[in-house]
Amino acid sequence: MKVNLLDFDLENLAAYCQTLGEKRFRATQLFRWIHQAGACDFDGMTDLAKSFRDKLKTQACICPPNVISRKSSADGTIKWLFDVGNGDAIETVFIAEADRGTLCVSSQAGCPMGCLFCATGHQGFSRNLKTSEIVAQLWCAEHDLRQHIHTRERVITNVVMMGMGEPLQNYRELLPALRVMLDDHAYGLSRRRVTVSTSGVLPKMDALGRDCPVALAVSLHAPNDTLRSHLMPLNLKYPLADLLSACLRYLEHAPRDFVTFEYCMLDGVNDQDKDAHELVALIRAQGHPGAWCKFNLIPFNSFAASNLRGSSVERIKAFASILNNAGLITTIRKTRGGDISAACGLLAGDVQDRTRVKLRMARRQVLDQEA
Ligand code: SAH
Ligand code: SF4
Repeated sequence: MKVNLLDFDLENLAAYCQTLGEKRFRATQLFRWIHQAGACDFDGMTDLAKSFRDKLKTQACICPPNVISRKSSADGTIKWLFDVGNGDAIETVFIAEADRGTLCVSSQAGCPMGCLFCATGHQGFSRNLKTSEIVAQLWCAEHDLRQHIHTRERVITNVVMMGMGEPLQNYRELLPALRVMLDDHAYGLSRRRVTVSTSGVLPKMDALGRDCPVALAVSLHAPNDTLRSHLMPLNLKYPLADLLSACLRYLEHAPRDFVTFEYCMLDGVNDQDKDAHELVALIRAQGHPGAWCKFNLIPFNSFAASNLRGSSVERIKAFASILNNAGLITTIRKTRGGDISAACGLLAGDVQDRTRVKLRMARRQVLDQEA
């Protein structure tokens, strides 16, 4: 089996190249070919010695998962579906805005956390993605977008780990992938333009702060433990007091940063005035001076199995103004890509059952084309 070079950050690639008798600067050149030029063919890497290229050709490959489909939304959002084998597919979404291009990346096929309001949570868990499968989402999207709009300039300016899965449950594979995103010889994204979103896997929040303090988003969704445990079973293991302390510890590694709290607005469940006031009290009780967190209110994207309804626009605005008036910076997230099921929490809608159907359909299409 060939070594997939998409599995390596620069350190690991240098170590691998050393086993082939090559110096570190050769690894750097190779790394730039892969990530900056989007090369997948060693023959084209003309500044590498032929002997090195020949060795790579026999032992290594640059192998992203196959793209099953690519859909564009009316608002410019693009969604890719990748085949990761065994009937599982993962999704990646590009969101274009005037001043930035954000890629929403998946970390697992499905998700084991079982949050009540999330389609991924309802569909169950298949497996962790490998580093190469996380990196390949960025590699494919960036070079596909450049080709489509005929540019050599960077298109993706921000990455959010908010696709399918709980990234901190797959920490081992996530960390090298984050390092590739940040590396100046690859995508060169600054620490603040890469966001890890978590439901609150505490020990790994601490590890991330130490190893690679990128921007942190925490799925909060409730102002007290009873409600949060009902919505997010992980809260039984890591309750709110511990979660908030972990957020403040995280900021010790990333001074002047904010933690973003995501709060999905559920009609009659967590969206009343009293909930907003309880939230304000909860944050104030941390006793931390200054603004250390922001709130992002997410309109709920409903799906068949959820039995939940989203709050009205008026309710979301009223909730936001209570938080804002109390000095908590609060924004309301715009929902994008609705017509291609690319919005928050809907991605997993395509995993497993529907994925299997899609895979079958995709395979049939391929066979039809060949016939
Ligand atoms: N597992 C991580 C990251 C993926 S979920 C986490 O939970 O943070 C990304 C964001 O989408 C989270 O804030 C999550 O709470 C939110 N989300 C999940 N389902 C949703 C839905 N149906 N409507 C709106 N947002 C949802
Ligand atoms: Fe998993 Fe995040 Fe969905 Fe919860 S909200 S089930 S942690 S993807």
